[in-house]
Amino acid sequence: MTVITNHMPTAELQALDAAHHMHPFSTQDDLAKQGARVITRADGVWIQDSEGNKIIDGMAGLWCVNVGYGRDRLADVAARQMKELPYYNTFFMTTHVPAIALSQKLAELAPGDLNHVFYAGSGSEANDTNIRMVRTYWAEKGKPSKKVIISRKNAYHGSSVGSASLGGMTGMHAQGGLPIADIHHIDQPNYWAEGGDQSPEEFGLERARQLEQAINDIGEDNVAAFIAEPVQGAGGVIVPPETYWPEIQRICDKYEILLIADEVICGFGRTGNWFGSETVGWRPDIMTIAKGLSSGYAPIGGSIVSDEVAEVIGGCEFNHGYTYSSHPVAAAVALENLNIMQEENIVGHVQNEVGPYLKEKWEALIDHPMVGEANIVGMMGSIALTPHKESRAAFAADAGTVGYMCRERCFANNLVMRHVGDRMIISPPLVMTKGEVDVLMERAVKSLDEGMAAAK
Ligand code: PLP
Repeated sequence: MTVITNHMPTAELQALDAAHHMHPFSTQDDLAKQGARVITRADGVWIQDSEGNKIIDGMAGLWCVNVGYGRDRLADVAARQMKELPYYNTFFMTTHVPAIALSQKLAELAPGDLNHVFYAGSGSEANDTNIRMVRTYWAEKGKPSKKVIISRKNAYHGSSVGSASLGGMTGMHAQGGLPIADIHHIDQPNYWAEGGDQSPEEFGLERARQLEQAINDIGEDNVAAFIAEPVQGAGGVIVPPETYWPEIQRICDKYEILLIADEVICGFGRTGNWFGSETVGWRPDIMTIAKGLSSGYAPIGGSIVSDEVAEVIGGCEFNHGYTYSSHPVAAAVALENLNIMQEENIVGHVQNEVGPYLKEKWEALIDHPMVGEANIVGMMGSIALTPHKESRAAFAADAGTVGYMCRERCFANNLVMRHVGDRMIISPPLVMTKGEVDVLMERAVKSLDEGMAAAK
């Protein structure tokens, strides 16, 4: 059998890949025709492909490599932990030091009384945990009818059956008979696309109040929780008008609905605070975490839970868990990642240094003839592409065509930027320097110019 290495010709790697490897969110037939981009190594904010191109990673992998690539400390900790205790579970009254230490660290970092962590292997699994946890919570409190979880259209909360049901992506619901029962979706706070003639402030309130309306329609006694990202990421980095967030908190408080903040993207410095909830002023009962928790160096996710929720759940045997819940190697890597973030003050770097610098450059994209809206919070930003700024029109061709062309131009210019329909988004490693921001922006503008020329 051929030994497959980084040194094989790209075409051979692509052919083998297409023959045997099924890719997430990809059309396999296209992969067979075009061949996948083969990434071979990475360092800092740069990834390298099998052709030797050095590409600036404007997406931190999948919104996750917060401390950047090539961290020896994380590799060393993983090796040490693998030699000492590569695996043991935390089922049935057992524990281990990496799980204890990581939980203590997360309790210290998380706001308010979020002091307890239930681990998973990913964000999707963690959101599945949340579905069962909030329903169990209410059942334990003698209110078993409180089962419905309210979420938002165009939200992304994962790809498992439960988490994809929480999500509001129509393309995902169309495959496999989703959503599961007792999940309800309200509209997203996307002012650019859906704000019409309202002011941003009115629109923010109107969209938040859809939560109140849904609670009243479904019946307060039937609603368990509301789940949302502080800033909707995969939906297109949708930054709501400022009136939205406090109104959501008010409604959750008034009706005693648990607030689940999905911090899979927004957590661990992305928005300029440790957690996005702090940036938007939420007091969640549960936070979903993954991605930046280990900066993507090991698969790990979890739910950070308030004292109250933990106490109620603690009264029963919670019949739930994954083989890789609190995996010792992943937990040790995550802890070291958080140590690096603290020692290097990476959250401060986002809040006071590179974040404001990127914001200034990013918001200046509004002067580009094709950019109708430029939003950014910390190190997650989006632009809306439009043929006509005043009317906030969408491009007439198939939705996503112009965005797709711009994304392809980004790749050609050695920049990773993602598109969601006609929105272009970035979420680079948090350790990016100002000089690297300049490179990113220069390549982004060039790609937009080329994408616009191709669209004509
Ligand atoms: N929640 C949010 C907000 C996400 O962006 C994602 C992944 O992109 C998930 C959950 C799912 O996480 P995972 O891919 O680790 O299952």
